Amino acid sequence: MPRFLSSLLLLCLTFNAHADSYITRLLNKPVPGGVAVIDLGSTTQAPKASYQGKPLLVVKEQNNWLAIVGIPLTVKPGTQQINAGGRTLNFNVGSKKYPEQHITLKNKRQVNPDPADLKRIEAELAEQVRAYRSFSPNIPSNLLLDKPVSGPLSSKFGVRRFFNGEERNPHAGLDFAVPAGTPIKTPAAGKVILIGNYFFNGNTVFVDHGQGFISMFCHMSKIDVKVGQQLARGGVVGKVGSTGRATGPHMHWNVSLNDARVDPAIFIGAFQP
Ligand SMILES: [Zn+2]
Repeated sequence: MPRFLSSLLLLCLTFNAHADSYITRLLNKPVPGGVAVIDLGSTTQAPKASYQGKPLLVVKEQNNWLAIVGIPLTVKPGTQQINAGGRTLNFNVGSKKYPEQHITLKNKRQVNPDPADLKRIEAELAEQVRAYRSFSPNIPSNLLLDKPVSGPLSSKFGVRRFFNGEERNPHAGLDFAVPAGTPIKTPAAGKVILIGNYFFNGNTVFVDHGQGFISMFCHMSKIDVKVGQQLARGGVVGKVGSTGRATGPHMHWNVSLNDARVDPAIFIGAFQP
């Protein structure tokens, strides 16, 4: 068979495997702030895969390996590439328009921090980015995540936020409107890799679910875990509060893959935010 025909056939097979995959159907939302599920074939060993130089979560479904790629909000629509076992694989990122939200804060320092605050914020950001970039070899207990609290959403992911009229970073997670003191449960098993009390995020816990799949919970009134602690799915990390830059008690939850903050709603089975 001519080579171009066999590669065409291979492409079709790959495409079919994609179309049939349960994980692909549920999680493949290739937009900025979304997730791309990429078929890596059926080698014996899991292929090592990376995107933008960062290692990727690779899981097996039936006989196929799949890379679950987090797409940063800053990525422009168009062709993107991952590296998998020495091969370059293309995927396409579509466009998505996120809405705007206008928030008024009485504490002006939380909009325009003073120089001492900025120094603190910079150090805290570096610490949190290090946590997001950590990569452990374990396989996540579940890819479809549980809601950490049950309650309505007060803010969706990706919303462009204006504080007192000034645009700041887009909303990198989901906000749930729940009363102070509500227990926050980890949406998958994991290890506590960082806790802190941060200028913007307040009392914060990072849970590593495995292979760069990481949750962050913030604005907590109380932290109930220690760094290094292993949590079973549903284990309590702490209580809802309003510490840091918050207008009232709520639970803010980030989900990160390969150091890209993505929409947590994608991972919550039948949940419609
Ligand atoms: Zn939030």
